[in-house]
Amino acid sequence: MDITPARPHPRLDTYVDRYAARTAGMTASEIRALFAVASRPEVVSLAGGMPNISGLPLDVVGSAISDLIAQQGPIAMQYGSGQGVPELREQITEVMRLEGIEAHPDDVVVTVGSQQAVDLVTRIFIDPGDVVICEAPSYVGALGVFKAYQAEVVHAEMDSDGLVPEALRQAIASVEAAGKTIKFLYTIPNFHNPAGVTLSAARRTEILDICRQHNVLILEDNPYGLLGFDREPIRALRADEAENVIYLGSFSKTFAPGFRVGWALAPHPVREKLVLAQESATLCPPQFSQMAVSAYLSNHDWQGQIKQFREMYRERRDAMIDALDDMMPASCRWNVPDGGFYVWLTLPPGIDAKAMLPRAVTARVAYVPGTAFFADGFGSSSMRLSFCYPTPERIREGVRRLAGVLEAEMELRATFGASAPERGIGPYHGYDAPGTDLS
Ligand code: PMP
Repeated sequence: MDITPARPHPRLDTYVDRYAARTAGMTASEIRALFAVASRPEVVSLAGGMPNISGLPLDVVGSAISDLIAQQGPIAMQYGSGQGVPELREQITEVMRLEGIEAHPDDVVVTVGSQQAVDLVTRIFIDPGDVVICEAPSYVGALGVFKAYQAEVVHAEMDSDGLVPEALRQAIASVEAAGKTIKFLYTIPNFHNPAGVTLSAARRTEILDICRQHNVLILEDNPYGLLGFDREPIRALRADEAENVIYLGSFSKTFAPGFRVGWALAPHPVREKLVLAQESATLCPPQFSQMAVSAYLSNHDWQGQIKQFREMYRERRDAMIDALDDMMPASCRWNVPDGGFYVWLTLPPGIDAKAMLPRAVTARVAYVPGTAFFADGFGSSSMRLSFCYPTPERIREGVRRLAGVLEAEMELRATFGASAPERGIGPYHGYDAPGTDLS
């Protein structure tokens, strides 16, 4: 007989008066709420961005870890430096060299995934009300951090070549005119999450010039840069500008996210602040994880492994694009990403991706509605589709289900008028939308 007394549940609003003001911005993301449903086996999830690590050589990783414990256990299981393990920082500079970055290991700070790097950078730069310029759409996890630190996010438009320089100029001008302070531009130049697009080479120089002119720091978030399908790694923004760029990298997509190892490469003075912020957050990033990643990089053909990942993701991208071409109504638009994990799909006018989601989940397919990727409520007629995790067959089945749901939705909505004004990935027609109104 269970004699454990029932645990009293405090009312949800019991603590509300005591929370810090910044917690008002901490709300569960749409992705998070979805994970519970989308992880049921009968649902084809095109929602989450989990890397597919089934191809990793677990025997190699396992023996590297057991050697690590046998040979360096007392060090691996001890506290370490707040900046990160020196040998790993050296290896990180080699990884970044693939994207044209020449850096010194002293300027690298290891973090708990690049997610923590976004958090630390925000922590050291943002006062409540400061502005961060983000692409439209932008990575939901970064938007969550900016919100938690009470930053004001101003979006700047993208098209198929990535961030539009003119949109960036306009965003900067509108913030300056409102007398607000722009602390940084947050950008994902390669194989964007969620938009799937890549910043063109010509635009890279222009974006760097604009930011230099306006004294805007760049936070270059690049977890997917080595996952291009048909091309060599693209030259990073940081490769051409050492002073004005903080570069973020991660082993989550090129090795495994479970180790939670990412990094920031920052100009020297910023690096010092980041280490102090890291020490106050965690004392030090996990020594064991860092040494495991370092051992993997030393003992395994990690570049060969990345090549395998690229081929696997390319096959999945092809499966998704073929399925969309075959099955989606002609009035939908999507891009064909040449790397990374994501396709950004825009629905026909009048269809709201968020409203449609419960019906999609009932039809056993999940996606992330576009609104998750905007700080200002836009994105309702778009969605992010991930092709990274399911098999090509499941992707096809997922798109088949999605097309069925959409067709039913279009019939249902046929009587409704045009949709709300929409922003997304498409030709740039100037920028005049809620969210630029900073008054
Ligand atoms: N930035 C972007 C653009 C991402 O997509 C992700 C993960 N989805 C992260 C940062 C965080 O990754 P991690 O903390 O695993 O390095």
